[in-house]
Parts: sequence; structure tokens; C-alpha cells
Amino acid sequence: MPGNFQTELVACFGQPVAENPTGAMQEAAFRALGLNWRYLTIEVPPARLRDAMLGARALGFCGLNLTIPHKVAVMQYLDEISPDAAVIGAVNTVRRDGERFIGENTDGKGFLRGVRIDAGMDPRGKRAAVLGAGGAARAIATELALAGVSDLLIVNRSRERGETMVRDIAARTGAPLRFQEWLGNWRVPPEIDLLVNATSIGLYPDVDAMPPVDLGEAAAGMLVADAVFNPPETRLLSAARRRGLPVLDGLSMLAYQGVIGFQLWTRQDPPEQVMKQALRHALGLA
Ligand code: NDP
Repeated sequence: MPGNFQTELVACFGQPVAENPTGAMQEAAFRALGLNWRYLTIEVPPARLRDAMLGARALGFCGLNLTIPHKVAVMQYLDEISPDAAVIGAVNTVRRDGERFIGENTDGKGFLRGVRIDAGMDPRGKRAAVLGAGGAARAIATELALAGVSDLLIVNRSRERGETMVRDIAARTGAPLRFQEWLGNWRVPPEIDLLVNATSIGLYPDVDAMPPVDLGEAAAGMLVADAVFNPPETRLLSAARRRGLPVLDGLSMLAYQGVIGFQLWTRQDPPEQVMKQALRHALGLA
């Protein structure tokens, strides 16, 4: 009996992409399950995104990840956008259903899975504060809103960007969102249960940067989460640890968005531990 030698393809399109570790995690998962699948990490300049998407269709790609700067631009080349990706206004994952390319956003879902599984917190009924109003903040805030938080405070430096995000998400989810402009050192109020840094403050190479927040009045059990995954131990998380607060690093979000992507593409149970381990290994942490 001849074997089946056909290779199934998934790719990440971005620019730059060279330092994106997702491929290591997905390839490890394909190997662990004995799947003849490949995950290709490909640099695509904005002017070639249309051609790249046509190419992905022609070659029958089973899925895609999109990273900077393609998360919004890719939406015009898709057949359908999932409801939460539409609220977020960006797509980081494409899955194929027959001939159709469907846009999803797994960043916020990955974050939420980390909150639930790695930090053991159910966000329903909790009061959350999100620092930032960029792509990661929109994804995280949308999923927190859909998960039923009782209060969602967005704190951002740019008032206009923050207010627009609050209006968009509140209008489409009905969740109780508020905005506060980030002026100087923001004192985290004691009623907050979950604080998320979704800004790029602390991201490599600016590893000594710390979001200007004061944790002095924070409640004893407040969970402090950071979207920054490089380095995983940010100054914010170190400061939270020193106060005895529980923390959740950005690697958790990165790993779970990959786990969800794997499930969407292959329709198989993802080998989560293999993926987490491969990610840590790729980043030189294990
Ligand atoms: P964007 O550029 O879209 O947004 C950046 C945000 O950070 C804005 O709200 C901006 O505020 C704020 N910001 C940046 N510098 C400062 C500063 N000095 N003071 C105050 N606010 C500041 O970035 P993304 O949303 O795409 O990414 C944010 C972070 O999330 C990055 O570190 C990225 O690596 C991480 N990320 C992690 C993922 C994971 O899986 N762990 C997935 C996706 C992203 P303003 O509006 O005022 O400019």
C-alpha cells in the first residue's frame, strides 16, 4: 500500500518575522502527533500581502497566523470574520473551512485561557483594569467583556485611542467599560481583581522599563498579568511578586493562542505541554 506523502501547510506572514517563535511550538506539536504538517515563518511586506493570500489559497494552506503589520489589512482578503475578531477589529489567525478563509483572533482567547488555567481565576464577575489600547489590549478587553467581568477599566496614555476602544467594545458587547487617562503614576485602586499590562512597556530591548503604576493600595489577591513575553519576567511582574501578588506572564498567552490555533487548523487535541516546552526551549528558557 502506498503511503500518504501529502504535506499540509500553515504559515505566519509578517514583517519582521525572524524572531517570532510560534513556528517552533507548532512544529513540535505536529511532530508529537505524527502529522505531516509544516508551519512556515515567512516575511511578507505589506505590498505583497494580497499576492501572499492568493498564494496561500492556491496552495491550499490549512491556516495562517498574521502578525505585525498585517492583522488589520488581511481582513479584506478573507471570506468571513468571526464575531469577536470583528469587535477587536483585527485577525491574527485564519482557518480554512472548505474553500473559505475565516478570520479569527486568538490573542484575547489565549490570554483568557491562561487566566483560567494557569492562574486559576474565573473572570466572570471580576473587576479588571487593562493598561493600553493597542491591538493586544483590544483583544484582551474584548474577551474579558465577553467573559462577563463586572467592571472593565481601560487606562491609556492617548485619550482618543482609549475612548474609541471603550466605545467600540461597550457598544458591541454591552459590557460595563470605563476609560481613564493615564497621567503620571497610576495608583491601582483596591477594588481591582485583575490588572493587565497590554502596553509594550517592558518589551525587549527596553527591559528595564516599568509601566508607571503604583501597587501600594492593590488588594492582596490581585492577579497581575503581562502581555509582554520577551522577557517573560518583566519589571512589573517582579514588582508584583515582591508584594506577594499572584502573576501571569505573557508566555502563557502566547502558548495558548498557539494551542487554540492548532485546534482550529488540525481539529485535533493539541499537545499543550509539548507546545509550552517547545516555546520555552525556542526562547532559550529551558
Ligand atoms: P500597539 O503598538 O498596538 O499598542 C501599544 C500600546 O502601548 C498603546 O496603548 C500605547 O499607548 C501603549 N504604550 C506604548 N508605550 C507607552 C508608554 N511609554 N507609556 C504609556 N503607554 C505606552 O502594540 P500591541 O497591542 O500589538 O502590543 C502590545 C504588547 O503586547 C507588546 O509588548 C506585544 O509584544 C504584546 N503581545 C503579546 C502577545 C502574547 O501572546 N503574549 C500577543 C500580542 C501582543 P498609546 O495609545 O498612548 O500610544
